[in-house]
Amino acid sequence: MTIITNAIGGQKVVSTSSRSQPVFNPATGEAIATLPLSTAAEVDACVAVAKKAAISWGTTPPLKRVRHMFKFKQLLDEHADEIARAISREHGKTHADALGELSRGIEVVDFACGIPNLLKGEFSRNVGPDIDSWSDRQPLGVVAGITPFNFPAMVPMWMYPVAIAAGNTFILKPSERDPSAPMIVWDLFQEAGFPDGVFNIIHGDKEVVDALLDHPDVKAVSFVGSTPIAEYVYSRGTSKGKRVQALGGAKNHMIVMPDADIDKAVDALMGAGYGSAGERCMAISVAVPIGEKTANSLVEALAPKVRALKIGPSTDADAEMGPVITADAKRKISGLIDQGVSEGADLVVDGRGFSLQGYENGYFLGGTLFDKVTKDMTIYKQEIFGPVLSVLRAQSYDEAVDLINNHEYGNGTAIFTRDGDAARAFADRIEVGMVGINVPLPVPVAYHSFGGWKRSLFGDHHIYGPEGVRFYTRMKTVTSRWLTGIRSGAEFNFPSVK
Ligand code: NAD
Repeated sequence: MTIITNAIGGQKVVSTSSRSQPVFNPATGEAIATLPLSTAAEVDACVAVAKKAAISWGTTPPLKRVRHMFKFKQLLDEHADEIARAISREHGKTHADALGELSRGIEVVDFACGIPNLLKGEFSRNVGPDIDSWSDRQPLGVVAGITPFNFPAMVPMWMYPVAIAAGNTFILKPSERDPSAPMIVWDLFQEAGFPDGVFNIIHGDKEVVDALLDHPDVKAVSFVGSTPIAEYVYSRGTSKGKRVQALGGAKNHMIVMPDADIDKAVDALMGAGYGSAGERCMAISVAVPIGEKTANSLVEALAPKVRALKIGPSTDADAEMGPVITADAKRKISGLIDQGVSEGADLVVDGRGFSLQGYENGYFLGGTLFDKVTKDMTIYKQEIFGPVLSVLRAQSYDEAVDLINNHEYGNGTAIFTRDGDAARAFADRIEVGMVGINVPLPVPVAYHSFGGWKRSLFGDHHIYGPEGVRFYTRMKTVTSRWLTGIRSGAEFNFPSVK
């Protein structure tokens, strides 16, 4: 069985920890690798290496830094199939979906290649007699990223390309569930010629996370994962004086207006609700049709499509979705479906009990569709993170907007309509960070920034794009005067232009 190593200072290092856990293939239920749960002492050693590397990396000319980034991007493109296969083997998503995730990650590498332009400062001549002033953004030093299972390649890429291009060194703590894709990517990163210690990977669980949060030499932490852990990481990290951006869970609603094209809305809901088995933080998990007529036609059109979903392992090129990540996740999702039934929702399509011939030990669930869900039900309030779509019927547009604005999460949302006024008012009024108008998964491109509102994000900065550059750098302003401008005699008043 493969033993996953750490990657520190340009070397693959076998962890000395006495604790480890298996990594499973969710399509077969087989354990395929052993993952070390590294220790706090190993984190200390890793931070020391990254801190040493940060000294010269932070002063390397940005143009030289991004030459490696261009090479890295080329290698990622060349190895995309291999990385996507590693993603699918441990995550379960289809090969095409894994390639899609990777290409969205590579877009951030593209963005990072242009960072010299974004690090340019501002200069003002003669801010006082013979005095000039300039501001620029400088790297923080060692920064860390802690990432979830659902995008093992893309979510780390939301972080380290920008952080590293900006002159920081980076420590990644990937998800325990699918650690192999980041390791392949790390090999390519080294091959691209970056100096040792610029990008490091340390595997583990809470012990590693806490050690990173507490370490005085880790200056900033980016986290993506569930809301309770995001909140914990944010409060522990900031209490130690760090910059933290912690992106959490979601419950994303899609409003279907009476004037919407129902067939297109249904296609959008199928892809956004069931793609990647619903394990996306931007997945649409609640459809909100306006009015009974819209609701009836929506559910009528959705139900046969949900029943006909093609479910299979990633090696099946026809599969539209794969298994969920773990046996525990399968149990939890099934339990929430039970709860939906007992709380009175109308179970139109039941995915419990789905089994795939030849893959009986895999963590497969069928697509599930609930109708007549109400806002007090657990399946509405909680993030399910599985292939379960709830239809909550609203009688008016205002009722739908209030519903979304009152939900604790505010990651993504969408409206399907032909009415420009309604769409514009929606974009204005809705208390959600990422909004789609006839776009069900409005994930911002790499040169914008990604982030939710409310309990979907703790911290002041969205991730990647311009916000990422701000997060991983700090501003310095220098005021300078040369000898000709210095007058004799002490000046006791506060400096001002007379
Ligand atoms: P998770 O919160 O269980 O794990 C995320 C990371 O936190 C992992 O690296 C894990 O090792 C670490 N972790 C887990 N428990 C910890 C603890 N007690 N103390 C310290 N660290 C701990 O999340 P997951 O199940 O891997 O991912 C799914 C979740 O991530 C969903 O809630 C999803 O919405 C969210 N997510 C959000 C976004 C976003 O951009 N907002 C993107 C992707 C995923």
